Amino acid sequence: MKCDPTLNRAAQPSLAVKPRLIRHFFLPPLIIALMIGLGYAGFWLSEHYGIRSLGENGQRQLELHARAVESEISKYTYLPSLLELERSVSTLLSDPTAEHRQAVNEYLEGLNRRSRSRAIYVMDTTGRVVATSNWRDFDSYLGEDLSFRAYFQNAVRGQPGRFYGIGSTNGEPGYYLAHGLEEHGKIIGVAVVKVRLEAMEERWQRARLEAFVSDENGIIILSSDPSRRLKSVIPLSDETKEKLARSLQYYWFPLNELQPLARETLSEGVEKLTFPANSELDSDEENIRYLAQTRPLSDTPWNFTLLTPLQDLRREAINQGILVAVAFALVAFLLIAWNERRKVIATRLAAREALEEANNQLERRITERTSDLRASNERLKGQIRERRQAEETLRRAQDELVQAGKLAAIGQMSTSIAHELNQPLAALRTLSGNTVRFLERGQLDVASTNLKTINELIDRMGRITASLRSFARRGDDKGQASLGKAVEAALQLLGSRIEGTPLQLHRDFRDVQVQIDQTRLEQILVNLIGNAIDAMQAQAQPELWLEGEVFEDKYRLRVRDNGHGIDAEARKHLFEPFFTTKPGEQGLGLGLTLSASLAAATGGHLGVEHPVSGGTTFVLSLPLVSTPSAEPI
Ligand code: ADP
Repeated sequence: MKCDPTLNRAAQPSLAVKPRLIRHFFLPPLIIALMIGLGYAGFWLSEHYGIRSLGENGQRQLELHARAVESEISKYTYLPSLLELERSVSTLLSDPTAEHRQAVNEYLEGLNRRSRSRAIYVMDTTGRVVATSNWRDFDSYLGEDLSFRAYFQNAVRGQPGRFYGIGSTNGEPGYYLAHGLEEHGKIIGVAVVKVRLEAMEERWQRARLEAFVSDENGIIILSSDPSRRLKSVIPLSDETKEKLARSLQYYWFPLNELQPLARETLSEGVEKLTFPANSELDSDEENIRYLAQTRPLSDTPWNFTLLTPLQDLRREAINQGILVAVAFALVAFLLIAWNERRKVIATRLAAREALEEANNQLERRITERTSDLRASNERLKGQIRERRQAEETLRRAQDELVQAGKLAAIGQMSTSIAHELNQPLAALRTLSGNTVRFLERGQLDVASTNLKTINELIDRMGRITASLRSFARRGDDKGQASLGKAVEAALQLLGSRIEGTPLQLHRDFRDVQVQIDQTRLEQILVNLIGNAIDAMQAQAQPELWLEGEVFEDKYRLRVRDNGHGIDAEARKHLFEPFFTTKPGEQGLGLGLTLSASLAAATGGHLGVEHPVSGGTTFVLSLPLVSTPSAEPI
């Protein structure tokens, strides 16, 4: 698959920095904020639905326990009206004698015992207690005026008297049920049953139920938690408080309000209440929160309230919130990790594609260059061909030149050769004539000595002609020459010119093998040494130095003389063909040109130096065949 490489190319630096900055500076706070937000949402939802489910469950509990309270109360409602049927009671009320009172007292005592109520007593229409079940007790109600009690006031008017209050005699709380006793359509007295409802509180406590019952004044009359008893669930005005205090309904107990820290109405009869922690028991604990569900109790002006603690629910909701926050953090972390990995992969992909693109470009360039190179190679080959042809032409011209030079040298040397050959020839003639005569005289020993000399002379002549032949022969660029032999041969060739001069020859070179045809080397040396001899003709003490040294892969031979040297003008034309300063037919001006071209043809070089001390030094560099032996000649 090929992608457009520009799509993955890195953005401009200024643009690339911004998203990174946003990521680094805004992402962590954003994630933390989202964590907190989602955590809170989780907490809220969990609590909300938890409260709803608790509310549904609580509604059933509320119904159950409210019914229990109702049945507990209603069980006694018939009791006071029963006394209407009792003759002794009506007798007492119409004729309150001690005897009648005693009879009713005993009757009430027995009835109270059987009904398990707290007390049963009968009042006349003035509100005075005329008979009571607790007539034996020291705090008996007998004779007490209870006309101020609301239950009496209601009952005496023919209304049912329902009243919760604290006994004015012994300060004991109780539920009073009063009934107006009628006779012939007229109320003659009031019968009252006092019931204790504490058993219910104990039952709630045993069942670990938190509940309370509040009366028509909003005062809690029954509570599973004793500390809430006689507290008001609604705000009481000072006026109401005073009125209630005067009624002695709650004896002398101060009526404080049950003050929750917070109250939140959720629906009709359902509230969320927060109470401060019980300072004695739960000093270290946080505030206690309840779901309060209230329902009126039938046949009474009372309300039953069930308190369901929300602590566990809240703890659970907090856990849920934390769980949601942690889950979100985990998901965010995984998303970030996934995103980072995706980016790494994208970067790698982009890098790979960029590499492939670069590779393709490189290949394209290589192809272009290769074709360029091929073209230039072709051009070069053409040039090489042309160069070779030129070289060939040049070489042929050189060969011709060499040959011409040799011929010229032969011509030049012919005089000396003739002189050289004439001398031994003359000597041979004389010697042969003498030898004949000595033979005739019988002087054989002298004749044999002459013959030996003749042989030597013939050898010498042979050598001269051999040198000449080899000099004239067309040489070869390739081959190998011994420097020592070449020097010897050159000196021999020039022997006639050296003879008779006080030439001092200094040899300081090694017999190395150089890459040049032997004859050509000899030819070069004859030229150089010959020129030196010419230059030293006017020198009283001519000296010639032949000094050699290895330089890199070549051997350098310096041919130095102490002759007249070369003037500045002549130096410029030294290697030009036919340049000569020699008079008449002595010089052809080809020697140096030929020597230089012969040296160059084998990869060597011929140069000239002009020592300050005088004279001239020609430097001949020729490639070595192999590393020479350390021994000098
Ligand atoms: P030719 O010897 O025929 O003149 P060459 O080419 O050998 O031709 O030499 C050219 C000239 O270089 C000579 O005429 C001479 O003036 C000068 N020359 C060559 N060798 C020497 C030398 N060793 N000392 C002084 N002059 C020299």
